[in-house]
Amino acid sequence: MLQTSDTLNRMSESATIKMAQLSRELAAKGVHVISLSLGEPDFQTPKHIKEAMKTAIDSGKYDSYSPISGYADLKQAICDKLKRDNNLDYKPENIVVSTGAKQSLANVFVAFLNEGDEVIIPAPFWVSYPEQVKMCNATPIYISTNVDAEFKITAEQLENAITPKTKFLVYSSPSNPTGSVYTREEIESFVKVLERHPQVYIVSDEIYEHINYVGKHVSIAEFPSIKDRVILVNGQAKGYAMTGARIGYIAAPAYIAKACDKLQGQITSGTNSIAQRGTIEALLGDQEPTYAMREAFKKRRDLVLSILNTIPNIKCNIPTGAFYVFPDVSAYFGKTFEGEVLKDADDLCLYLLNVGHVAAVSGSGFGAPECIRFSYAASEENLKEAFTRVKNALEKLS
Ligand code: PMP
Ligand code: GLU
Repeated sequence: MLQTSDTLNRMSESATIKMAQLSRELAAKGVHVISLSLGEPDFQTPKHIKEAMKTAIDSGKYDSYSPISGYADLKQAICDKLKRDNNLDYKPENIVVSTGAKQSLANVFVAFLNEGDEVIIPAPFWVSYPEQVKMCNATPIYISTNVDAEFKITAEQLENAITPKTKFLVYSSPSNPTGSVYTREEIESFVKVLERHPQVYIVSDEIYEHINYVGKHVSIAEFPSIKDRVILVNGQAKGYAMTGARIGYIAAPAYIAKACDKLQGQITSGTNSIAQRGTIEALLGDQEPTYAMREAFKKRRDLVLSILNTIPNIKCNIPTGAFYVFPDVSAYFGKTFEGEVLKDADDLCLYLLNVGHVAAVSGSGFGAPECIRFSYAASEENLKEAFTRVKNALEKLS
């Protein structure tokens, strides 16, 4: 039998994808499962974007390979978006479009990490950051936070984590899984630290940019003193309900973009041509559907928090962005159901799935084993039902 490679063996399976799979399997057996595991908008891709994709198909002009880093007019549209929304100046040579932001991140790590390099990852983190870093044989260095600190790191913690081996800092704001959003002042305090450490580059994952309930998005690339060390990552999945289209991109110094282009040229080539045409419409066309989705997510957040707050012994921050709640549920560890002890968040998640018929994701994959993550990208009706089930299931524990 073939032995899997050391590279694969260093990585864990994606915790989000694993839970989504378990929930699908249970649903296939006829159980009515409400899945709050995978972070994906339940909205359809807005109609004008779908129309642009249909027109692209019918035109017959986009049936062949696209340029590796994306169509020239898409890269220009991304530059226009970055100017309009973020007041950032980039040129098409700074942009690489990939098959989802997940690939954008992987490109950067594979293109620049060597064995022994350190990557600072504030915890809780999105599940794929450390695994991609491990894939490159580099070392994740975690900075821990907790619910009382709204899961945010301080400049001092960042300073203490940096060593001569640090190559990247990677974080998302708004954050998956915590929903926390760094303020301009907080980001500025990180910039002051980073100014003192010119060997550290910043991978700024801004995929939840549009799902922000507290004002305007702040990108760390807005700070001129470090802009030439920022790799801005964004994509279409969350803000435009285009998870299936698989479009992500980076904006970065041209030599970094060129390295990612070279890597991508040997791995996947240019991403799906039709999805690229839809992305031009998404970025330059009507933004109202995106704003409407944000308002709907905000309403759902309030609904979910109002139910969560009635469940005893759960501690939750008020998420100000993204579409997740990430309660600390450690008070339930050690409780039993029908003689079985639920020892940790993994056990609790399996219990909620098998008994409550609600799929969530254990915090262990996100670097916060005291928490579990629920996505509230679901209808209000399903959310009400799901959190009532969670409450009832937790009440059954002794
Ligand atoms: N970063 C974060 C923080 C995410 O939550 C996701 C969602 N999967 C991604 C990156 C990857 O997005 P995409 O679907 O574009 O690959
Ligand atoms: N980002 C989403 C999540 O965290 C999608 C799943 C994934 O790509 O990991 O659930």
